Amino acid sequence: MAARELVVLGTASQAPTRTRNHNGYFLRWDGEGLLFDPGEGTQRQLLLAGVPSSAITRICVSHFHGDHSLGLAGVVQRLSLDRVPHPVPVHFPASGLAYFERLRSATAFHDVAEVRAEPVAADGVVATGGSGTIEARRLEHVIDAVGYRLVEPDGRRMLPDRLAQHGVAGPDVGRLQREGTLTVGGRSVQLDQVSAPRPGQRFAFVMDTRLCDAVFALAEGADLLVIESTFLEEDAALAHRYGHLTARQAGLVAARCRVRRLVLTHFSQRYADAERFGAEAAGEYGGEIVVAADLDTIPVPPRRTDPDR
Ligand SMILES: [Zn+2]
Repeated sequence: MAARELVVLGTASQAPTRTRNHNGYFLRWDGEGLLFDPGEGTQRQLLLAGVPSSAITRICVSHFHGDHSLGLAGVVQRLSLDRVPHPVPVHFPASGLAYFERLRSATAFHDVAEVRAEPVAADGVVATGGSGTIEARRLEHVIDAVGYRLVEPDGRRMLPDRLAQHGVAGPDVGRLQREGTLTVGGRSVQLDQVSAPRPGQRFAFVMDTRLCDAVFALAEGADLLVIESTFLEEDAALAHRYGHLTARQAGLVAARCRVRRLVLTHFSQRYADAERFGAEAAGEYGGEIVVAADLDTIPVPPRRTDPDR
């Protein structure tokens, strides 16, 4: 099975530090590669993480603060330098089109890659591909910001022993999957007799925002949730003023939305010990918490077996 994993490129809010680059997240999802929020230095972080530019098939920008988008200029030019043959759509809040265009054409370069602006003007589906749909929702930050989620539709997993038992083999398997019913040796076989539910997987990406309904909607049932936790609860007033979440709020979202693996990131430089974010979120959420560090690779958890989220 092809890999589904998150490669963390950067985890610092506002300004990079000695150990944390500006934001950047690369989601490997079967044959697709989604680059989220390329902050300054993303091109080099991709190199250090061993991700070639050709692996990027789509770019999603949450908003046009520099820590989430300054790296777009470099990445866009790298796609051309490497003559990446496939088109690369770029999603971003529609009101930021002028920022996108500046970053898209920041300096002179031989512009050959097909980098396609696909601004997000409203909540809903922004793209549908082989492995699911990508949806965006408006968040609550000090400028227009959107969050994203990738939703793979639920499907069914064929059970080899049951197929054999019912005498279904070869091209008949595909036919039964498409049509839901099949006649074999004069007897009718239903799809649910030879298969089990296969719940689709979900990935959610929630960057700069206050706690709002959209955060919960994006995170609902996520197998992997990447969420900003800029502040600790002791600075909740600051978090609210600047349109950010605290680690406690991130934990609360993960618990309420039945998230399976929680990735905290986008840390303020004011705290010396990042483990405090994990400890605070753990007060609300009993699941697995990853306090992200640059160049971490975090797998999407194995597929759920129960169909209920
Ligand atoms: Zn930010």
